[in-house]
Amino acid sequence: MRQSPEASPLIPSPAATALPPPPALPANAALFLDVDGCLLPFAPRPDAVDVPPALVARLTALQRALGGALALVSGRNLATLDALFAPGAFTAAGLHGVERRRAGDTGGTGVVPAALPKVRDAGLALIATHPGALLEDKGAAIALHWRMTPEPHKDATAAALRAFAEHALTQLPGYQLQPGDHVIELRPHHADKGSAILAFLEEPPFAGRVPVFAGDDLTDEPGFSAVNAHGGISVLVGDRAGSAARHRLPDTAAVHRWLGVPERTPETPA
Ligand SMILES: [Mg+2]
Repeated sequence: MRQSPEASPLIPSPAATALPPPPALPANAALFLDVDGCLLPFAPRPDAVDVPPALVARLTALQRALGGALALVSGRNLATLDALFAPGAFTAAGLHGVERRRAGDTGGTGVVPAALPKVRDAGLALIATHPGALLEDKGAAIALHWRMTPEPHKDATAAALRAFAEHALTQLPGYQLQPGDHVIELRPHHADKGSAILAFLEEPPFAGRVPVFAGDDLTDEPGFSAVNAHGGISVLVGDRAGSAARHRLPDTAAVHRWLGVPERTPETPA
């Protein structure tokens, strides 16, 4: 077993090379894939990566075979992912989970949960019954204010708005309550790849499937933890020590073989 040079003998840190390879992709997988360093080898410049057409074709076939439950989970933004993987069209989370577009969406950055417009409308209906209350629409966030509410009604209004927000939170995966001075806000959690994967897993076609996530970098660690917590398959690409991943593939070529991407040959130039 190879020890990474920085591993301390006092703090056992499992050598990545000791991790077993992943099993074959389950038929009921929800497949999450990091891009750079996982699906694509690193290029000297990020805009110089080469996306083999055979990879796009295989991902498209997998997407279909998995009932749409395949998503790219990358540090790149969604627009760049779309350009790189064209003509493929994939569900994706960009910017390490800050941007998230769910299955079937064609727009750029469908970050907000499906229930958010309904919550906003219900909030508007509620404040209409509470003189002085205000709903501030911040796009991905909603703030409910009661500073202007006349004094005799302030406590009751505050209680009603807080109760509304607490209930709304149950419909907004990945959101949290942010209380303030005469205000309570519904806003997205600080996002990472783990929160993006967990949000996908709450929605069709990902919900109820076995989550599988492959990635190479430190920013993939929250994704590994999320997948492990759901009894899924976490796959480190490379030999970084101390990962939460439970499986390992040595490089992008091995990822391609695992996913069934046909190898490039001189007869089939990409
Ligand atoms: Mg990566």
